[in-house]
Amino acid sequence: MRSILVSGCLYGWNARYDGQPRPCLHPLFLKWKTQGRLIPVCPEVYGGLSVPRPPAQRRGDRIVTQAGADVTEAYEKGARWALRLAKERQVVCAILKQGSPSCGSAEIYDGSFTGRKISGMGLAAEYLQQAGVPVFDETQIVLAARLLDD
Ligand code: SF4
Repeated sequence: MRSILVSGCLYGWNARYDGQPRPCLHPLFLKWKTQGRLIPVCPEVYGGLSVPRPPAQRRGDRIVTQAGADVTEAYEKGARWALRLAKERQVVCAILKQGSPSCGSAEIYDGSFTGRKISGMGLAAEYLQQAGVPVFDETQIVLAARLLDD
């Protein structure tokens, strides 16, 4: 049975920057969780950041907080963790939380902290995709299911 890397917050961990839960309740996701095939990871917590933590956004290759602190190093460390886990567990794909500067796979906030989004990827999602791991978000569970062999 193949495993799937998933965002820890979708899995049910209290990992988000604002400390608010955002579990994925899609029936397929819950079935896979019961089967033990989901591998949770929170790149930001694995990178050494706390819960809660200041919100951060991507500005090109850097990740910055609204106060201007450069937190890129922690995000890179977390992204490397996510990729390592994906390789060790030979996951078939990843299902990551949309919009996050780590986990977003289609859209991210534009770095202005005004709520505007742009096309782009979070750092962990980018590392995974560059390594050949298909990345989906929580609205694409059915698409991800097509990659499973059982
Ligand atoms: S980094 Fe990813 S897993 Fe962690 S809280 Fe943000 S979206 Fe969820």
